[in-house]
Amino acid sequence: MAKNQTREEYAVDLFGCEDEELKAVKEATAKRGMPPISVPAELGRLLTLLVRTKGAGRALEIGVLGGYSGICIARGLKPDGTLTSLELSPDYASFAHGNLTKAGFGERVTYRVGPAAQGLQALAAEGLRFDFVFIDADKPNYPLYLNHVLDLVVPGALICADNVLQGDRVLDPGYNDDSVRAMRLFNERLATDPRLESVLLPLRDGFAVARVK
Ligand code: SAH
Ligand code: MG
Repeated sequence: MAKNQTREEYAVDLFGCEDEELKAVKEATAKRGMPPISVPAELGRLLTLLVRTKGAGRALEIGVLGGYSGICIARGLKPDGTLTSLELSPDYASFAHGNLTKAGFGERVTYRVGPAAQGLQALAAEGLRFDFVFIDADKPNYPLYLNHVLDLVVPGALICADNVLQGDRVLDPGYNDDSVRAMRLFNERLATDPRLESVLLPLRDGFAVARVK
């Protein structure tokens, strides 16, 4: 054990390891010049664990990048479970689809390309419903995404969100940019909305988990 580790370093040392498949996705994503903002390994594990524990069969992901979190979610799904992924960039969506295909989930994931707010409205209009949701796209829209997601979930669904601490800027009154203000609102809503029971894990960039009552 390394000396003078922080509690987070200790946890990441033990649980932050990745298998070759996920490592390859991160490497390929970086190689294409895409930003290094896939979920960290231990949060990927948490996604798989939550999806599996929930017994989820209809997952929704907002913000795809290279498909890292998509693979983590898909790994936890029931054998016939499906993932719907919303992504602004057609290029990212097609790259991610390639990665999910290599991982054996190509037939079970559907990409909807375009602004997620419109994608969410379309899903609601089509009457689709989900039992697991992961929010990890543009930060200023998190409160809006939560509104739409609440129209798309079944009772007992889990809603997870990444980056809810924004590099700890949400707790610094000196910061008031769009992302920080939106995230404060998002976190307050998770904490107080009577339809939800929620927790914020101050792990990495902050990860929230809510259950729809
Ligand atoms: N969940 C991914 C990381 C997502 S990074 C993972 O952990 O592997 C954020 C993603 O949100 C990027 O791919 C970006 O293109 C996408 N995004 C940004 N704005 C968006 C919008 N308005 N609608 C949909 N996707 C958006
Ligand atoms: Mg993120």
